[in-house]
Amino acid sequence: MEENPNLSRRSVLGGLGATLATAAVAPAILTEPAEAAPTAPAELQNPVTKYPRPPFKSQSQPWPGLAGQMDPRPDHGETSYKGSGRLAGRRALITGGDSGMGRAAAIAYAREGADVAINYLPAEEPDAREVIALIKAAGRKAVAIPGDIRDEAFCQRLVAEAVRGLGGLDIVVSNAGRQQSHASILDITTEQFDWTMKTNIYAPFWIIKAALPHLQPGSVIIGTTSEQAYDPSPDLYDYAQTKAATMNYVKSLAKQLAPKGIRVNGVAPGPIWTPLQVSGGSTQENLQKFGEKTPMGRPGQPAELGSIYVQLAASDASFATGQVYGSAGGSGQP
Ligand code: NAD
Ligand code: MG
Repeated sequence: MEENPNLSRRSVLGGLGATLATAAVAPAILTEPAEAAPTAPAELQNPVTKYPRPPFKSQSQPWPGLAGQMDPRPDHGETSYKGSGRLAGRRALITGGDSGMGRAAAIAYAREGADVAINYLPAEEPDAREVIALIKAAGRKAVAIPGDIRDEAFCQRLVAEAVRGLGGLDIVVSNAGRQQSHASILDITTEQFDWTMKTNIYAPFWIIKAALPHLQPGSVIIGTTSEQAYDPSPDLYDYAQTKAATMNYVKSLAKQLAPKGIRVNGVAPGPIWTPLQVSGGSTQENLQKFGEKTPMGRPGQPAELGSIYVQLAASDASFATGQVYGSAGGSGQP
């Protein structure tokens, strides 16, 4: 019987392919134990006792406040965050990247392999310098862009400078925020109300509009909302409604941009120990017992949220869009 040359050739190639596949896979399987990350067990930590608990010392700083002058100093993951290449080669712009959640995200992003541009106010230069040094220490490019995001022209310049400095843009973290406690709506002037709206609602609108033409499929936008979006405090009349607006734009924009392959998500922190709270965001009375009402009985530290910003930006979270991830010590939503 005449042999079919094609069939025979295919079987030979198939056989060869199988052999090659085995050859390629086998060494990986054999060497895996040797190449795996060090497996020294990480110490199990009780989250209840891991960080400072109230009562806290009464303290107040002129707005916008510095993390470096808080007592105790907040933990942004400076000595603890370990990266594993999850954002290798990404280029991120983070507003409010000098302190608080923005700083925790900046440190985590750099250690995950991303180049990072941070925006902050000129008065925050001492905090910002520390973050720039930490990004560089992670071996990544750091771009410092101080300026006031209440100005549309500055927001456009901010994005342009980030794109120029980083050589493009894949991650936009719209995190900067203004929070001032007022016991009564009667205490909020039109100027104060406008300040909160400009910072928390207009600036993300201007920054996202300027960034969008630069974002390729696979890029992400992350907004910092709050538990205040769902359960507003009586003294945060203006601030809380901006956080509801943030939660809402995340969901609307996620639907709008999903077909373009751009994901939009939010992070909703509970009470977190940051300069915003000691520079008018909380009353002295609330500050001394800050975080006491959470089931954990303490406030969160920015470091405890860094990995959430990483998770939402990482490409393996590709089906997560229009989501809000919370971190609030047992209370709060979502
Ligand atoms: P933070 O003070 O460390 O960060 C806020 C940052 O906003 C400042 O560092 C500043 O750089 C920036 N900012 C404010 N006004 C600005 C302006 N006009 N121009 C440029 N930058 C400006 O405090 P944080 O708590 O880390 O705040 C980050 C985000 O987290 C905010 O959106 C805040 O609403 C949100 N949040 C905070 C808490 C909390 O308990 N700390 C809870 C929920 C949500
Ligand atoms: Mg700051």
